[in-house]
Amino acid sequence: MASIFSRIIQGELPCEKIDETDNEICFLDISPFTEGHTLVIPKREVARFEELPETEALSLMQTMQRVAKAVCKAYGGSDYNIQLNNGPDAGQEVPHVHFHIIPRPDGLRVPKLGKYADGQMAEVGARIRACLDS
Ligand code: 5GP
Repeated sequence: MASIFSRIIQGELPCEKIDETDNEICFLDISPFTEGHTLVIPKREVARFEELPETEALSLMQTMQRVAKAVCKAYGGSDYNIQLNNGPDAGQEVPHVHFHIIPRPDGLRVPKLGKYADGQMAEVGARIRACLDS
């Protein structure tokens, strides 16, 4: 079954559209964290970021920068977060990859895990580098 975002892309459901390209659509989140919270969505229906073809991932980044500039300008140069919830354990509710642009005039900080133990940072770095595609 098509995701709710695919139904919006196909025009079956309404949205407050901000921008549209051949590959992406951007519209306001219906339940915003802050005013101006905007979603940037590839038209291709894939659940996860790494499933997007590389050219479409690049296109998505270009559109995100364009829309982020507009969101920032519209809110007086507000700082903002760009967030991707990639998979249900990361908080993803709609299984169609999408980035959130969230204006952040509030200055609040998300708590961090803390510091790495001695030697742990090198282990973590090696673990991730070993998984890079050449
Ligand atoms: P996720 O948790 O999957 O990263 O975020 C999904 C987002 O989509 C949520 O912030 C939610 O408010 C938004 N959303 C869900 N359904 C709709 C909808 O029908 N229209 C719009 N504009 N946003 C939606």
